[in-house]
Amino acid sequence: MSPVCGEGKVTYLVEAKRLKKYFPVRRSLLEGVLGKRERFLRAVDDVTIGVEKGTVLALVGESGSGKTTFGKLTLRVHLPSSGSVTFNGKEVASFKDKDLESFRRSAQMVYQDPTAALNPRITIGEAIRQPLEFNRLGSVSDQKERALKIMERVGLLPAEEFYSRFPHELSGGQRQRVVIARALVLDPVYLVADEPVAMLDVSVRAQILKLILELKQELDLTMLIITHDLAIAKYFSDNVAIMYLGQIVERGSRQDTFVNPMHPYTKALISSVPVPDPERKRERLMVPGDIPSAINPPPACRFHTRCPFVFERCRVDEPALVERSPGHFVACHLYDKK
Ligand code: SF4
Repeated sequence: MSPVCGEGKVTYLVEAKRLKKYFPVRRSLLEGVLGKRERFLRAVDDVTIGVEKGTVLALVGESGSGKTTFGKLTLRVHLPSSGSVTFNGKEVASFKDKDLESFRRSAQMVYQDPTAALNPRITIGEAIRQPLEFNRLGSVSDQKERALKIMERVGLLPAEEFYSRFPHELSGGQRQRVVIARALVLDPVYLVADEPVAMLDVSVRAQILKLILELKQELDLTMLIITHDLAIAKYFSDNVAIMYLGQIVERGSRQDTFVNPMHPYTKALISSVPVPDPERKRERLMVPGDIPSAINPPPACRFHTRCPFVFERCRVDEPALVERSPGHFVACHLYDKK
């Protein structure tokens, strides 16, 4: 049975409760003169979800759904507007001094764009060694030894030769291996991987995904993988949460999501994944239009402007995230008895 956030049945390494992050939108000069009210981009809007120790939670949604902001909130890159994030049961926003340093070592991120994540003037060996230096962990030679070891593990071979290369001398796949090595050099327990293969050639995506999965198992990592690609979520995750316009619309085990998807948005995402067998036809559920603005999201059900099953209630009443079967939560009026 899938773990259920908030029921106290499982141990979450990372847990968000009623988490919100609103970013103020800068007013134009004219808006300021006219005294227009300040507006906010509601990137994350009342999200309650947990990542169980040793598991992978895939957070899936279109670009602009708030996934990356959520990931950054769990790493304290952003502080919440309201609600909380806990790490090992302790409030992340309250960490100070040594606790904060220890948290920063334990929780790391693999960014989507390895080129942007690396300083072009620093050799990749130094880029991997630097986090050890910033954290005053060991002598320079210890740090270099550790960097070489992790470079070997991520497949940057021969490591001694790669150590003195610059990012522009590497392929996209190799650069992403560097970013992974740098995230792992401090021995984290929690890793956020934000679209880790989205910028890579299709030919190397599978290798990088395989590497991340191997490292996850070997190092017993707890992971949040952020992706717009359900095929990656299927390959990677233990649990899946579907995010739309800052809110979770469905969450449950991988089995729940892929065998019995319930929310129309989840169904549409799954129906858009190509089937490898040309003999098998899958009925496509089309969702018209683009994701609306998070500054002024649609009222009631936020998906109602695109939902093929919309009915009157959807426009006036916000659906709650309700447990429809053990551990499987869906926010949709279609399943309400009324
Ligand atoms: Fe569609 Fe209504 Fe369900 Fe929203 S609540 S997903 S609009 S059926």
